Amino acid sequence: MTSTTSLTGIHLMAKPVGALCNLDCGYCFYLEKESQYPARHRFRMQDDVLEAYVRRYIASVHAPVVEFTWQGGEPTLIGLDFFERAVALQRLHAGGKRIANTLQTNGTLIDDRWGEFLAREKFLVGVSLDGPRELNDVARPDKQGRSSYDDVLRGMAVLASHGVDFNVLVTVSSANVDHPLEIYRHLKAVGAQFIQFNPVVEREPVAAEAAIGLHFAVPPSLGKASLSVPARAVTNDAAPVRVTPHTVPSVAYGDFLNAVFDEWVRADVGTVHVMNFEWALASWCQLPTSACIFSPRCGKAGIVEHDGSVYSCDHFMYPEYKLGNIATDDPARLLDSPAQRAFGAAKETTLPGDCLRCDFRFACNGECPKNRFIETADGEPGLNYLCAGYKKYFNHITPAMNRIAALVSAGRSAAEVMRQH
Ligand code: SF4
Ligand code: SF4
Repeated sequence: MTSTTSLTGIHLMAKPVGALCNLDCGYCFYLEKESQYPARHRFRMQDDVLEAYVRRYIASVHAPVVEFTWQGGEPTLIGLDFFERAVALQRLHAGGKRIANTLQTNGTLIDDRWGEFLAREKFLVGVSLDGPRELNDVARPDKQGRSSYDDVLRGMAVLASHGVDFNVLVTVSSANVDHPLEIYRHLKAVGAQFIQFNPVVEREPVAAEAAIGLHFAVPPSLGKASLSVPARAVTNDAAPVRVTPHTVPSVAYGDFLNAVFDEWVRADVGTVHVMNFEWALASWCQLPTSACIFSPRCGKAGIVEHDGSVYSCDHFMYPEYKLGNIATDDPARLLDSPAQRAFGAAKETTLPGDCLRCDFRFACNGECPKNRFIETADGEPGLNYLCAGYKKYFNHITPAMNRIAALVSAGRSAAEVMRQH
């Protein structure tokens, strides 16, 4: 899930069961976090941690609305009772602030009890689905290797029947990147009105990382140039940097977004909300984007693990990025600590010259530092692996985005752009 960053302050995302999940998605970077804990460790947020998290988080947000995001792993594995206690604690500690909850789930365990609760408490739910059955099941089997598709669709139907607002998160990998319209039309057919596309970018671990049980390489250390390699050296089958088989090819990801954009801008503006396009439109309208990956700096969205540990970011859940513990530390102070400020600022201060000179910097900002492991054409390290794809995408959408931004700034409906296509 692309982290959203609060436009009004800090944002924390909690993982009540850590990396535990009932699915076995081949591209999931989080499943291996189990290995950071001892054998037989209990992956379950205890009530004292939950209470401290709710109380301290609400107190540290100086805004009218406090946004709680629950994710995993699969957060519903902890059971509905946990979430009943969470919302009761939120009410107890709200202090006049409005509480908003978001749950990111694979949808497979959602039944009527969940549906009633999520509707009553006005949760916004994100459901992961990678397209029609044959595309979804390539990378999203359950632990026994069986299809998860029917269970996800059943969960989505329950949400719809209870009137729960939900969006669909599509992970774009090498398996489905060549099927943009099939996926987009399928999502519309199953009733999705809010859609987000997330690209898979992971590298194979080097020997030392594999030796400690990692299946993916640790992200480049922010500011350390030595890990970057020439773009031509990034390959699925040869040293020096091997991306994982699920990793989406950069240009193909741009083509994917372009194909969906062309259909959306002709027929669906105003009725289907594709978050990727809304982030871009915000940039075209010179507004801040809510997606951390496209913000100039990051570091305002921390992770609270099941044991209360607070980390810099979902993608930097390694001991060196641990900031403290919610049981003892004020989260606002943790996210404003020198270490975290340096983490967030490095996103901007380590941009290579290509990004500094790029016409699309206003919308891209070098994207996520985790993906900055290739060299520019003139050998400078720290360029984003997805750069070629993003350039193709931003180039392609520029004329329509200019038109939509002009409509919006004139106080007219963005949907009018469809008449011009
Ligand atoms: S490193 Fe920064 S941009 Fe990337 S996911 Fe984390 S917070 Fe977002
Ligand atoms: S498109 Fe490429 S060069 Fe431009 S800001 Fe993004 S990563 Fe940098």
